[in-house]
Amino acid sequence: MKVLVIGSGGREHALVWKLKQSKTVKAVVCAPGNAGIKAIAECVDIAAGDLAGLLDFAVKERIDLTIVGPEEPLAKGIVDLFEENGLRIFGPNSKGAILEGSKVFTKDFCAKYRIPTARYGAFTKRGAAKKFLKTMDMPCVIKADGLAAGKGVIIVQTIAEAEQAIDLIMKDKAFGAAGNQVVVEEFLQGEEASFIAFTDGTTVLPLPSSQDHKAIFEGDLGPNTGGMGAYSPAPVMTDALTTRVMEEIMLPTIRGMASEGRPYKGMLYAGLMIDGDRINVLEFNCRFGDPECQPLLMRLNNDLVEIINGCIDGTLDRIQLDIDPRPTVCVVMASEGYPGKYVTGKTIAGLAQAAKVGGVEVFHAGTATKGRQVITSGGRVLGVTAIGATIKEALDRAYQAVDLIKWEGCYFRRDIGHRALARLNK
Ligand code: ATP
Repeated sequence: MKVLVIGSGGREHALVWKLKQSKTVKAVVCAPGNAGIKAIAECVDIAAGDLAGLLDFAVKERIDLTIVGPEEPLAKGIVDLFEENGLRIFGPNSKGAILEGSKVFTKDFCAKYRIPTARYGAFTKRGAAKKFLKTMDMPCVIKADGLAAGKGVIIVQTIAEAEQAIDLIMKDKAFGAAGNQVVVEEFLQGEEASFIAFTDGTTVLPLPSSQDHKAIFEGDLGPNTGGMGAYSPAPVMTDALTTRVMEEIMLPTIRGMASEGRPYKGMLYAGLMIDGDRINVLEFNCRFGDPECQPLLMRLNNDLVEIINGCIDGTLDRIQLDIDPRPTVCVVMASEGYPGKYVTGKTIAGLAQAAKVGGVEVFHAGTATKGRQVITSGGRVLGVTAIGATIKEALDRAYQAVDLIKWEGCYFRRDIGHRALARLNK
């Protein structure tokens, strides 16, 4: 079987790495990929958002299965397009991907199906949004409706800041058409966790819990990024909470989407806020998290293609996940300045030495090749991922590898997994 993976991040490198281990996969192609992916698979220079180019390629190359990494092509309807053309593809169609693509849809959906989420109001007019602020405690959260690459969520401390955020989104259109509507939402306290599952539209097969570190600085401070590290399991997610998340969130979501005429297949990712026994949905994503994908796939013993086939064919109930009990972690190495402006084109040294550390896989994100060298080409550059008998051992291995990798202006956090360590040491 010939598989096409769409995307160019650490998530896609991990997907390609895992697919290469599948019995049924003969060849993996990635569009557009990165230097790490190029070392183990063929890369083709088609952007993840170029739906027509991807379709053309998949038809010509007789691709048997396409797996979509990022949300953009899913929201644009790549699954609809491929299926109309008789191609097999993994992910929700555009009617399903709206769960990530529109926060207003998702909040209204949660309200309708009694899925726990923060109190909110959704508005198409600035005046009405500002009037609603009077009913909110501060801090509160202002969100652009559509996709904004993680930047469309603004936590505000005062009414004045909230009004500015509403203007930024709706008047100045800082996030373009994503700001045609706005959500004003209650600020939730607690600890975040990612709950990521495979689904065929009826059965939900959850992966183990995971947690990512969104903030750029140690101590989870500073602006949010795409994710500076992740680990699995997340000790905050107990077995009892897992059962509740399935019963109160995941299954009602899949049933609700089906009854809305939006049957949902693919990855369903619930971003949760956990505060004691209070669980709330912060967001849904319609794809694997990045970086959570890297530590999760390292723990998955099943053949990934078998699970994906189960999702596409509606036979997921026949599959049981086989999960390595050992914890895994991923430490993201980024370019200096990220998530703001950063410089690329720096030569990366030490990759071969780092790869030799036991239990470690170095997944590439923003990397490219220049002659025989690997150079930086993005904000998040590498995801150094490790498995260990304990989370401490996994972290020690990951940082041992991180310390062997060097480029000018390389930045990473030294405290990945600190919440898990603190909980385990309690
Ligand atoms: P975008 O749509 O711009 O890509 P996103 O989908 O990543 O953004 P969310 O996950 O909804 O946006 O929010 C991003 C982060 O903001 C969350 O991970 C969380 O840290 C914080 N956040 C969002 N909503 C709330 C809330 N109601 N209370 C507290 N923190 C919140």
